[in-house]
Amino acid sequence: MAANYDKLKVEVIDSGLCTGCGTCTGVCAAKAIEMDYTGDEILPHLVLDCVSCGLCVEYCPGKDIPLRDLDKKFLGRERNFNDEHLGIYLNSYRGWSKDPYIRQNTSSGGIVTSLAKYALDSKRVDAVIMSALKDDEPWKGVPFIATTSEDVDKAARSAPVMVPVNDLVVEALLKRKYKRIGVVGLPCHIHGLRKLQAAGKPKRLAEGISFMIGLYCASTYYWEGVRHLIKEFTEIDDLSKIVKVDYRGGKYPGGMYVLTSDNRIHYIAGKHDYTWHFLGAATYKRDRCLMCVDFSAELADISCGDIFQKVTDNPKIVSVLTRTDTGQELFRGAKEAGFIDFEHHPAELITASGMGWEAKRHAGMYRLLRRGKQGWPVPDYQYDLEVKMLARKLSFPS
Ligand SMILES: Cc1cc2nc3c(=O)[nH]c(=O)nc-3n(C[C@H](O)[C@H](O)[C@H](O)COP(=O)(O)OP(=O)(O)OC[C@H]3O[C@@H](n4cnc5c(N)ncnc54)[C@H](O)[C@@H]3O)c2cc1C
Ligand code: SF4
Ligand code: SF4
Repeated sequence: MAANYDKLKVEVIDSGLCTGCGTCTGVCAAKAIEMDYTGDEILPHLVLDCVSCGLCVEYCPGKDIPLRDLDKKFLGRERNFNDEHLGIYLNSYRGWSKDPYIRQNTSSGGIVTSLAKYALDSKRVDAVIMSALKDDEPWKGVPFIATTSEDVDKAARSAPVMVPVNDLVVEALLKRKYKRIGVVGLPCHIHGLRKLQAAGKPKRLAEGISFMIGLYCASTYYWEGVRHLIKEFTEIDDLSKIVKVDYRGGKYPGGMYVLTSDNRIHYIAGKHDYTWHFLGAATYKRDRCLMCVDFSAELADISCGDIFQKVTDNPKIVSVLTRTDTGQELFRGAKEAGFIDFEHHPAELITASGMGWEAKRHAGMYRLLRRGKQGWPVPDYQYDLEVKMLARKLSFPS
């Protein structure tokens, strides 16, 4: 009987609510579900008989995200009026790697890279699940298990495509038998893992995840958008000639560069160019991302994002929200060990940084309400939906 997988397929995958997070494939001890990378987009599919353990349906964050319960369980209380923009957090900082090379060669200033390195070096964890670009199709992302500081370097810089990070949870904790792991993921990855931890089973999985670093997320894009950008702005006729892609190369905030096998570097678009926003961010947004209302990884131990405003002379600085004691200790520990430095950052600047907050807390909220009124499939975030406009005086740095 394939009852549980059937439910996941009907209610989430075939209803357009799958985020691609990989929680279902990552918790399936029978390995009956796998992520399929062969189609246009990654999606879970059944490869063996479903043993009906029910874990995939229970922990899937595609349709049900019990934010209220998870806030209480992991952040100590329900959110109130003051938490409505960024969720519940302890402190707001801006931080940067103290290693100038890491600071320069990471997405926004290397906090995530440095925290992962610190956690491994200090033996707080045995491994960290992270994301890197694929070797054979380098415009796509894959999750991998970092166990050394050198491994962590492979994950530096963000890819705006969906990576099924949670797919590797069983691999790390049961197969490879690591005792404690960290995870770096987007808000939807964190939702799935918190559901697993809240249920407390399988125990080894629930207890083995020591910390989660969440990334602020406006959305991920369909690979088709990346293909389009390459086609329109380069003369590359065959994607197999691409040996490397860098989504945030060059001067901050970075742009998309492609290296071909003839050693030519092709520049496609700057992150804040109209081209990127029109053909990448806006047009090819994944459907499920349009219905997501968590911008700042509200359930992570520590959340990190860009600061698209000029607040210091060096623009490579990361906005950081610590949310749990675990996150606070990791952050302070990394500073004391000389990996990072940080200072206070006014949290109200975060909502006015880039288009992420707007995409989630205003447009996403509104879309959920509209779809709900029509009776179309929508994810349930448990809190009442309220559409509130925030005047942000948004401007991008030149
Ligand atoms: C899809 C996506 C959307 C984002 N949207 C926003 C936004 O709207 N606003 C904002 O302020 N910040 C956003 N960020 C976060 C931002 O790009 C940086 O990741 C963050 O500022 C941390 O910078 P850093 O220099 O510390 O990261 P780095 O030290 O460069 O580390 C980057 C980390 O990101 C992880 N990673 C890369 N790509 C992915 C992926 N696709 N899925 C999961 N993990 C990944 C890697 O494992 C790596 O550990 C987004 C990131 C991603 C991946
Ligand atoms: S767990 Fe994640 S990948 Fe699996 S069906 Fe749900 S949203 Fe999709
Ligand atoms: S927008 Fe939401 S669903 Fe989409 S990748 Fe980001 S966190 Fe996941």
